[in-house]
Amino acid sequence: MKIVFATNNQHKLSEVRQILGESFEVVGLKDIGCTEDIPETAETLEGNALQKARYVKEHYGFDCFADDTGLEVVALDGAPGVHTARYAELFGEGNTHDSDANMNLLLKNLENITDRRARFRTIIAFLYKGQENLFEGIVEGNILKERHGHEGFGYDPIFQPEGYDRCFALMSAEEKNAISHRGRATKKLVEFLKSEK
Ligand code: IMP
Repeated sequence: MKIVFATNNQHKLSEVRQILGESFEVVGLKDIGCTEDIPETAETLEGNALQKARYVKEHYGFDCFADDTGLEVVALDGAPGVHTARYAELFGEGNTHDSDANMNLLLKNLENITDRRARFRTIIAFLYKGQENLFEGIVEGNILKERHGHEGFGYDPIFQPEGYDRCFALMSAEEKNAISHRGRATKKLVEFLKSEK
């Protein structure tokens, strides 16, 4: 079965392909000729994921899924949350998806704070046969005091999942997928797809 994942992020595409396995062919935005920036202007992860999936359906006619992820830090009242990708940019300290600037700002804002608890939360919105379906995946963890490792992307060098002694950037893709927010949300999507087949 062929499905569109509303992303241009090759890293995310390959993570999701790995989890979905061979029974599904997942194509990205580029593959359907969508090269424009899809608006993400909602104030919640659910709203943004739905906005992206609805855009693809409306403009390209494909059933499609889209995700949105936030890093919710307890000591910062859930920030950066829906602003995770552009955290530093909001404060004039970098561009959207500038992981270095984002991590620098987060580490600065958590300086001298001992409560380092945080969680990644992913929402996947799947538009399928005229129905809107939402799947949530969460991984609890802690923000480290400094960066470790080079795997993955985004905040991986400073996010250590609960029950592990290594951050995401020190894990293989398989290890991370097995416990990650996106991995968990994607597994729910897969269960749904399998039940629909
Ligand atoms: P997106 O909604 O998946 O684009 O995620 C928003 C932002 O959250 C990204 O720009 C990354 O900075 C961060 N993020 C999302 N997923 C991960 C992950 O698996 N590891 C580290 N950072 C992530």
